[in-house]
Amino acid sequence: MLLNKNLKPSETYTFLSMYARYLYHEKTLRKKEIVKELNAFMEENYPRYNPVDWSARLEKYTSKAGKYPLCKCEGIWITENEVGAIEEIHDKVLERLAFTLLCLAKFRNFRNPDNHNWVNYGNGEIYSMACINTTAFEKDLKLNKLRELGLVEYAKKVSNLNIQVLYLCNESKHKLFISDFRKLGYEWKLYKGENYIRCANCAILAKRKNNNQRYCKDCSEKVRNERQKAMMRGRRYGLTDCTEKDVREISRLQNAGKPYLRGFQDLQLTN
Ligand SMILES: [Zn+2]
Repeated sequence: MLLNKNLKPSETYTFLSMYARYLYHEKTLRKKEIVKELNAFMEENYPRYNPVDWSARLEKYTSKAGKYPLCKCEGIWITENEVGAIEEIHDKVLERLAFTLLCLAKFRNFRNPDNHNWVNYGNGEIYSMACINTTAFEKDLKLNKLRELGLVEYAKKVSNLNIQVLYLCNESKHKLFISDFRKLGYEWKLYKGENYIRCANCAILAKRKNNNQRYCKDCSEKVRNERQKAMMRGRRYGLTDCTEKDVREISRLQNAGKPYLRGFQDLQLTN
């Protein structure tokens, strides 16, 4: 992203925050110089840029630049003790919720070493990652149950969006590595032996419906459409009995930017 100069407007904030961190950590610039650099970037990329409107925001990114490191989180380790604590809940839905909160707390600890196992996300977001479909009322009840079990604590003030995870334990043995936060609830199900596959295209977890399933629902539709298109192309070039293998070959050649029919000796294209 830092190298890409063609930003979408919606990416500007994220970019500025990352760029400020980059200048702080990698270029070791001081606050004043960082603001200057951000200004220069805006002037160069936004013709109607007005520094007055932006000064507070640029100051904010600059003052936060030193707080978080500029590094990508490859994933987090869940330890034996943590898995044990979650398994003791003996409730499939609550276990998924607890696992999700744990992953989120660990991610936030990674970003900010002073986080102390706090999670601060909307209920909707948490439950969606936990792959739990339920009402707003039930969402609060379930979090309360984890609290009654002594697994989480709420912030004294504000709302229950601030949750501290009490079963986080980095001191025990590494048990499983989580590098994809899209379907944390399914990650837990997979760990518990349920039948899930990682999509061969986008790597998201999906429930296995049959033995030769390779893709998630979205990707399987995409792949099917592409195959159909390739099949049509094949027919256009006279391959009436276009096989799966031919289709794969056509797609492969096309993706490589080569003429489709290179592999079909009897059907060489002349133009
Ligand atoms: Zn997929």
